[in-house]
Amino acid sequence: MKGFAMLKINEVGWIEKERPHCGPMDAIVRPLAVSPCTSDVHTVYEGAIGERTNLILGHEAVGEVVETGSLVKDFKKGDTVIIPAITPDWGAVESQMGFSQHSGCMLCGWKFSNIKDGVFAEFFHVNEADGNMALLPKNVSIEEGVMLSDMVPTGFHGADNAKVSYGETVIVIGIGPVGLMAVAGANLRGAARIFAVGSREICQDAARKYGATDIINYKQGDIVKQIQEANNKKPVDKVIIAGGGLEAFEQALKLVRPGGIISNVNYLGSGDHIKINRLDWGVGMVHISIIGGLMPGGRKNMEYLSNLLKYKKLDVGILLTHRFKGFGFIEKGLALMKDKPRDLIKPVVTI
Ligand code: NDP
Ligand code: ZN
Repeated sequence: MKGFAMLKINEVGWIEKERPHCGPMDAIVRPLAVSPCTSDVHTVYEGAIGERTNLILGHEAVGEVVETGSLVKDFKKGDTVIIPAITPDWGAVESQMGFSQHSGCMLCGWKFSNIKDGVFAEFFHVNEADGNMALLPKNVSIEEGVMLSDMVPTGFHGADNAKVSYGETVIVIGIGPVGLMAVAGANLRGAARIFAVGSREICQDAARKYGATDIINYKQGDIVKQIQEANNKKPVDKVIIAGGGLEAFEQALKLVRPGGIISNVNYLGSGDHIKINRLDWGVGMVHISIIGGLMPGGRKNMEYLSNLLKYKKLDVGILLTHRFKGFGFIEKGLALMKDKPRDLIKPVVTI
């Protein structure tokens, strides 16, 4: 079968591979729609998780089940399914402790385009199909469904980890597709004032639609000063980081209140250390929590999030600025995610 792969750090291309084998609990799926991710860009062009050779890329897909293992109970050939980017081993002790993202080892629930071939292929393998897939609701398009693989769960995970609550003031640093879903998640959880930080106008407009009350352009001066000024020098309750560099943590620490939470979902592709300023850290005693999280996978989570699309509580169509038809356009989609033209939020490729 054909697949679009990371050949080595900094190099991508089309390769031929054996069609994957279906174990008793697994499924083989044919992609119907896929989307390239900024994470693919970090992995290939920053070598952020080390060398990978001839590894098929991609982890965001809606697909059609073509084969199921003998122990799979709830899915059958022909079903249209959402496949989350993270597909944990549900029997692992880490999963039993509530951290399925790290089933087996740190980040090991992240299998596609990390430790096994991803979804940019004619066929791909889903482990533990009953736990790691969800049916796409009939009234949700395959293109919008793809946003449930990664963008929605990651952004919402940022808002969940920040424990955003009614009436709070929240900053979202970075409003690409992930940050925009963090804005939407914070809004649904009841945040009153939401500062959205980004420079692309199309993302700023989308952020307003998802509930941002204030737009901050980091290219027009220090975001700490801009936000402090707009917020009458008061600290905010929560900061969600979904873009920017390592300095975002230093900025967040200057902006969040004692007892507040800094919740990161950004994939930190380069640099070695995050600086924590001693005084901003309340000389070690300020009760500010810093948490970083890989999105959770899981069928139940997918079903709940897809309900938001099914019942029109969340419109992910706003994210889909570039739509392509044909397997070959995956390459173009990845190039767009690398170059980030000003009119881009997220590309989707239907196959
Ligand atoms: P984008 O590149 O589309 O968005 C990044 C955002 O950060 C943009 O709004 C950009 O602004 C903004 N930004 C860039 N530099 C700065 C800066 N110096 N200060 C403040 N803001 C800045 O990325 P995505 O939304 O696609 O992804 C966001 C991150 O989430 C990536 O690192 C991705 O790998 C990661 N990710 C993490 C997952 C998880 O499970 N934790 C899963 C999926 C993705 P603009 O472009 O407008 O100038
Ligand atoms: Zn992704």
